[in-house]
Parts: sequence; structure tokens; C-alpha cells
Amino acid sequence: MAEVLVYVDHVDGAVRKPTLELLTLARRVGEPVAVALGAGAENTAAALAEHGAVKVLTHDASEYADYLVVPKVDALQAAVEAVSPAAVLVPSSAEGKEIAARLALRIGSGIITDAVDLEAGDEGPVATQSVFAASFTTKSRVSKGTPVITVKPNSAAVEAAPAAGSVEALSVTFSAQATGTKVTGRTPRESTGRPELTEAAIVVSGGRGVNGAENFSIIEALADSLGAAVGASRAAVDAGWYPHTNQVGQTGKSVSPQLYIANGISGAIQHRAGMQTSKTIVAVNKDPEAPIFDLVDYGVVGDLFEVVPQLTEAIKVRKG
Ligand SMILES: Cc1cc2nc3c(=O)[nH]c(=O)nc-3n(C[C@H](O)[C@H](O)[C@H](O)COP(=O)(O)OP(=O)(O)OC[C@H]3O[C@@H](n4cnc5c(N)ncnc54)[C@H](O)[C@@H]3O)c2cc1C
Repeated sequence: MAEVLVYVDHVDGAVRKPTLELLTLARRVGEPVAVALGAGAENTAAALAEHGAVKVLTHDASEYADYLVVPKVDALQAAVEAVSPAAVLVPSSAEGKEIAARLALRIGSGIITDAVDLEAGDEGPVATQSVFAASFTTKSRVSKGTPVITVKPNSAAVEAAPAAGSVEALSVTFSAQATGTKVTGRTPRESTGRPELTEAAIVVSGGRGVNGAENFSIIEALADSLGAAVGASRAAVDAGWYPHTNQVGQTGKSVSPQLYIANGISGAIQHRAGMQTSKTIVAVNKDPEAPIFDLVDYGVVGDLFEVVPQLTEAIKVRKG
């Protein structure tokens, strides 16, 4: 069976969920071979094997931390040359897309970004994308070279599928461009303890209806009762009620969680563009004519200041 390379996103050996989702999709197309780079790369092996990696190619060098993406592109190219895979899968983060695009250019291959599903096809993997503010679904395949495909977080379920996961050292020679952009400093973001917005299985968002920064504590309380990330509409962000990093939509982040709860959000096309592919959508809005209700699986017509705290309490009671 053909091998499929999966680029591993990890923090000091802790594999992030979107990579485990990629392993689920990779198994549909071939045998997953993971590529883990940087500090702690070898520590990723157990989790990757548990989720189907037959092999884990590892390489550590200070270049991965000290310079921006090019060393990683060099390594992934070395892996492509070593394995001759049927496809290369990369998580659709900003960094992942840059790595994938540079790799595709280097190896003369076509690329598909932001896939939301992947299946085997007679002439290579077929990727599903959700386009034009999620109003169309397209299916496409790369027709030139080794398909390079980036996949959005939450596009597939994480499934255990134990495999050998044998660790092999990857031989990497860095290119002249590898040290072109040096990292000069790092400031850790203050942790909220909540999951990363684009990776969260549940997102609870607030819009203009929340009516003030201080009221976002209601949204946060609901999010915390569900272990969810907090999102916001641009109206809420522009008003200074919530950080820009939490904006969902065309000019914010794209999320595709299992559950999206929109509170006091009208459902403008630009907001929908960032959340329309969520599996289950719930909205709380006091206006029964709000366009968000065209989109929802469950809608509550009501005042969020009454509905949301009750919902939070009910969830807490259910959870015991
Ligand atoms: C180029 C461009 C890019 C944009 N990018 C984005 C983007 O990335 N993300 C984004 O979100 N927007 C984006 N916008 C803005 C977008 O067009 C909308 O203006 C914005 O999404 C509206 O935010 P909202 O739904 O919170 O506010 P509103 O449209 O004002 O809706 C507020 C809703 O809250 C409801 N409400 C009020 N009070 C309560 C209450 N007490 N209880 C329950 N419901 C209540 C109201 O009925 C209303 O439906 C963009 C616009 C442009 C032009």
C-alpha cells in the first residue's frame, strides 16, 4: 500500500489534535508515515503509533526553533524524496499552509488547501473544500506531482488504530534559504486555559447582542461549562469587547467545530464564512427574523441574558 506523509504539529513532543485527525484521513488513502521535527520529536511516536502511523520520521536541530518555516520545508522535502509518498498531508494552520505551499512549489506539485474531507480516488486522493463563504462544496484532486493537501482542524474524528510507529531518523540537509528569517524573540500568550479557537470541538461565540465587554463573562461561563473556546463577531471585536484573536469570520478565524453556539449574532455572510461548516449550529437571538436562524440546527428566540445563564446552569447540573 502506498505511503502517505503526515506533517506532525506538536509542542515539545505533545501531538496536537489536528495531526491525529490527519492520521484518520491518511489511512483512507494509504499507510500513514509521520514526520516529526524539532525538540521532543521522538516523544511523539507513542501517540502517533496509537493513531495509525506505521513509521515516524524524526529530526531535531536548533534551526527549527531559531528560524521561520524554511528548515521545516527542507525536512519535509527530504521526507518526500526518501518515501515517494502518494500524498503529503499538513494541518491547515497559517504555518502549515506556508510549509505546504513552499513544499509544493519545490517539488513541482499541485496543492489543495483548507480541505474539510479526503477520500481515496482512482487517480489519487480527492479532497473536499467548502468555498465562497461555505455556499459551495467542491471536490478536487491534484493532477500534477505528489498531492500536497492541507486539512482544516475538526474535519475528521480522531480514531485509535494502533500501528507499529517505528521511529527512524530522517536525514536532512538545510538549504541556503533555511536561515533567511531568524526568530528574534518569543513572548508566550497569556493562557486562558481554554482550547485553541481553531482546534476546539465546541465554540461559544458572542456578538453585538452581548452589549459590552463586561457581559462576555456570560459567554465565557457557558464556554467553560462545555470545555469550549470563546469566539466573537467582528462587531463585538471592533467595539473592543473581546480580543481580535477571537474573531470568527471572513476576516477572522475559520472554525469548524462539532458544536457552534452563536449568542446575539445576526448571521452576516462574513460571519457565516468562518463558522458555516460547523457540524451542529445553535443560535440564541431575540429577533426571530435574524438570518442566523436560516443556518441553525437548533434556535432559541430569546434574550441571551436570560437564556445563556440558564443553559450554563443546566449543563453544570447534567455534568454533576
Ligand atoms: C469586508 C468585511 C469583512 C468582515 N469580516 C467579518 C468577520 O470576519 N466576522 C464577523 O463576525 N463579521 C465580519 N464583518 C462584519 C459583518 O458584516 C457584520 O457587521 C457583523 O458580523 C455583525 O456582528 P453581530 O452579528 O455581532 O452584530 P449585529 O449584526 O448587530 O447583530 C446583533 C444581533 O444580536 C441580537 N441581539 C441583540 N440583543 C440581544 C439579546 N439581548 N439577546 C439575544 N440576541 C440579541 C440582535 O437581534 C442581532 O441579530 C465583515 C464585514 C465586512 C464588510
